[in-house]
Amino acid sequence: SAKIIDGKSIAKQIRDEITVEISRMKDTVGVVPGLAVILVGDRKDSATYVRNKKKACESVGINSYEVHLPEDSTEQEVLTHISGFNDDPSVHGILVQLPLPSHMNEQNILNSVCIEKDVDGFHPLNIGRLAMRGREPLFVSCTPKGCIELLHRYGVDIKGRRAVVIGRSNIVGTPAALLLQREDATVSVVHSRTTNPEEITRQADIIIAAVGQANMVRGSWIKPGAVVIDVGINPVEDAKSAKGYCLVGDVCYEEACKIASAITPVPGGVGPMTIAMLLSNTLTSAKRMHNYK
Ligand code: NAD
Repeated sequence: SAKIIDGKSIAKQIRDEITVEISRMKDTVGVVPGLAVILVGDRKDSATYVRNKKKACESVGINSYEVHLPEDSTEQEVLTHISGFNDDPSVHGILVQLPLPSHMNEQNILNSVCIEKDVDGFHPLNIGRLAMRGREPLFVSCTPKGCIELLHRYGVDIKGRRAVVIGRSNIVGTPAALLLQREDATVSVVHSRTTNPEEITRQADIIIAAVGQANMVRGSWIKPGAVVIDVGINPVEDAKSAKGYCLVGDVCYEEACKIASAITPVPGGVGPMTIAMLLSNTLTSAKRMHNYK
């Protein structure tokens, strides 16, 4: 049965490495990395994500600055806060928690984060550079970066292998496909209009599933020995749980375990890596701004 890719423990290892580096930087040049988070509205899931990011910052020694705006704020108010953080030298990373309320233009807002502080990697210039050969983005978005980091740390060969990414969102699927291509994989993208997703997915040595559909990828979709990275986080009813629900991935874990050579669990796979990559991007940004190696 498949080896479990333990994102939780790798993320812990990465956070420990970051903690050491931050304390070394503070001691030698007196710089403490800072992350600003902007949350608009009262979505419970967003509030939880922001709280977890702040806690993670504290645990490694990153200063966090939070702005929480009401649901009926204007786009201009959000832009004003971003502009303040763009100009603030104690802030090295700016994160706008998505989704924004529907009356705001998400593109305008993401465009206004200066690319040197775009630790989420959502600025079109950073995504554009990711897509271009010979160009380097300043930041790569955290979830896909975490997926690749898991493959690296588990010694999975990517070069020359067939990879299939399921999902093509701007924040996960598309950058994941671009990253795999930069790693010299041969990449296919399966999405909601793909007519034969099972047949295409079955050709993959590496599968990254980022769809948002519980248990969509069945055992029969997986080539024996493939490596499966499951990004999905889907709540499903579960009478046995105190909350009344539990979280499952986009991949049917029980079936996949019997066929894949390695797989990430949900929870405890990609999720913790996303936060670790955010911390890592914030540290990288602070180092770059202070020309600290
Ligand atoms: P999204 O809704 O923006 O995009 C989903 C993508 O899946 C779309 O490109 C769509 O074309 C594709 N899709 C939808 N139905 C499909 C189908 N039946 N067959 C094939 N493709 C289909 O979602 P997202 O933001 O990319 O997130 C995807 C999942 O990953 C969600 O469950 C989300 O909660 C999770 N997620 C996890 C993390 C993490 O840190 N682990 C981070 C971000 C998102």
